[in-house]
Amino acid sequence: MKVFKFGGASVKDAAAVKNVSAILARYPNQKLLVVVSAMGKTTNKLEELVSALYAQDHRIYAGLLDDLKAYHHEILAGLFAERHFHIYQELEDIFEQLAQLFFKPLAENRSFQYDQLVSCGELISSKILAAYLTDQSYSSAWLDAKLLIRTDNHYQEAQVDWQKTSELCQRHVQALFERVDIAVTQGFIGHTAEGFTTTLGREGSDYSAGILAYCCEAESVTIWKDVPGMLNADPKYFKHTQLLTQISFKEAIELSYYGASVIHPKTVQPLQQKNIPLYVRSFIDPAAPGTTISANAERDAQIPSYIVKFNQVLVTFSSKDFSFIAEKQLAEIFAALATMQAHINLMQNSALNFSVLIDRSKMQVESLQQALGTRYQIRYNENLELVTIRHYNDAILAQMSTGKTSLVSQLTRTTARLVLQPKA
Ligand code: ASP
Ligand code: MG
Repeated sequence: MKVFKFGGASVKDAAAVKNVSAILARYPNQKLLVVVSAMGKTTNKLEELVSALYAQDHRIYAGLLDDLKAYHHEILAGLFAERHFHIYQELEDIFEQLAQLFFKPLAENRSFQYDQLVSCGELISSKILAAYLTDQSYSSAWLDAKLLIRTDNHYQEAQVDWQKTSELCQRHVQALFERVDIAVTQGFIGHTAEGFTTTLGREGSDYSAGILAYCCEAESVTIWKDVPGMLNADPKYFKHTQLLTQISFKEAIELSYYGASVIHPKTVQPLQQKNIPLYVRSFIDPAAPGTTISANAERDAQIPSYIVKFNQVLVTFSSKDFSFIAEKQLAEIFAALATMQAHINLMQNSALNFSVLIDRSKMQVESLQQALGTRYQIRYNENLELVTIRHYNDAILAQMSTGKTSLVSQLTRTTARLVLQPKA
């Protein structure tokens, strides 16, 4: 059995859904577990819907719901000739429930409510795709992801119960594949032991594909994307990019750790554990080979990869009384950063200074000042870029820092990290 994951862009309109169907037609008589995301930007809209719900703003709530309905209806109209086809009624029911939700008591746990509501995006997209495949006479069925992925009740960022999920997958997925070839299920969604819906965090559908492949012991996972595969740099910022045709699990985990955004960072780890290859391929050019991620590390070092994070702030703490910044002091600095939920992208220490690089969006000057201002002098260097280069060489380092001041540079044998400030 193979797992195929299709993201929001691959099902953003009727033509895109037809394209997914055409891709599936390339794999006749194979067992395919298809994991699908919400269509286009639906998840963002649903997040706005949660905000409108908690603001108790009915005008905005109803408006957003109308937009979502119109968007999905346009897709239905492009896919189905018959207006009374059962899928119309199924969507109607979901939208009616969402409309009613506004008048019910607000759940105190907003994350709980978020998951019940935002998961509707995947529910709708998977129902539409499944209905279309059935209409096109594929041997296929819709499969409820809530039957499969068991999580804890940490809403919006649920943690997987691997044991339970494996049992559920053995039971439900195998049974379905005795009847049909293609099962269409939702990414992003799990359920608690009590049966409530959970979500796995934004962009979590890739992770769903990894979880399901692990628990079903799939032969491979393919993530179908609007890019030719994993590139060695983001084409938004780099003129010349190269396709990484073959990299190891370890390299893929390193790249996503440093911020390469092609695959969700948690996706690779379960696959690596069971040695299940991951293919990243283009839904625009489905015949192209794309990227293969597997245990094979032979080509990892062939092409240097570049990952850039913008809008970084280097925060430097200096002890006011000239005492060393040692473990005890570091503990209180980390605690203050954790309170801001700031993720440390890089750090550096000396006897009297300790510096961390964090995203500008997480910076809370007041709160840091309050927690640490009496004991430390705190300085901020803003508008910095963090450039990470895997498999670098001297020429690359020189080229990347041209016209910029390098504030920090950290080199290991395989990875260079530079904190750069554009010269004024
Ligand atoms: N629809 C969810 C999101 O946009 C999950 C996903 O697409 O991976 O975050
Ligand atoms: Mg998405």
